[in-house]
Amino acid sequence: MVNIEFYKKIQTTLQKSGDAQLVAVSKLKPVADIQDLYNLGQRDFGENYVQELSEKNPQLPDDIRWHFIGHLQSNKVKFIAPFVHLIHSVDSYKLLEAINKEAKKNKRVINCLLQIYIAEEDSKFGMDEKQATDLLEFYTANKSKFENIKICGIMGMATFTDDETLIRKEYQKLNAIFHIFQTAYFLGDNDFSVLSMGMTDDFHIAIKEGSTMVRIGRALFGNR
Ligand SMILES: *Cc1c(COP(=O)(O)O)cnc(C)c1O
Repeated sequence: MVNIEFYKKIQTTLQKSGDAQLVAVSKLKPVADIQDLYNLGQRDFGENYVQELSEKNPQLPDDIRWHFIGHLQSNKVKFIAPFVHLIHSVDSYKLLEAINKEAKKNKRVINCLLQIYIAEEDSKFGMDEKQATDLLEFYTANKSKFENIKICGIMGMATFTDDETLIRKEYQKLNAIFHIFQTAYFLGDNDFSVLSMGMTDDFHIAIKEGSTMVRIGRALFGNR
């Protein structure tokens, strides 16, 4: 069941805040729910699992933009490479190389975000600032090897907590890292423009702290 009320509300909120984009996170939700939200005009959907996404994709309209937001193993990139719009969860050279290779096979350029680890808990995937910096150094020095990917920004998740001060601090940190990378590696490159942060419980904070893309699941589709 889609929460139409919330869908309308979040769109107004996003417009007021300067047009951050909404990715509707549909993991573990049926194709019918995705179709319902599609019919209301939503085109960007987020999924976490390769197999689930591969099964859903052919059952839904071609103009859906699929965002892959879960942990991605290099050997599974091939299953989503023909159609994925944006991979939010790049966390290693190895994965970046695998995405480039599969994108090339499909004669595509695949958009990617680097997943940055900002939370205090250590159960989440991603790179710290140093690891991401190393990756960007390597990428910049070997750009001709990466003709089939485009790095469009970064993604991060805050600590799972009620402590809004902590969440705000983490999102401020992510925003700061985004601007450091933009200045150091993507000056004059308009494609590096995505700061993907904010979920059902913290999107208000994320938007205030400069998010350009929120990934919202439960508020739209109900609890999983
Ligand atoms: C599941 C998930 C979301 C959406 O979370 P909700 O709390 O349902 O809004 C956002 N981002 C990532 C990376 C996720 O795994």
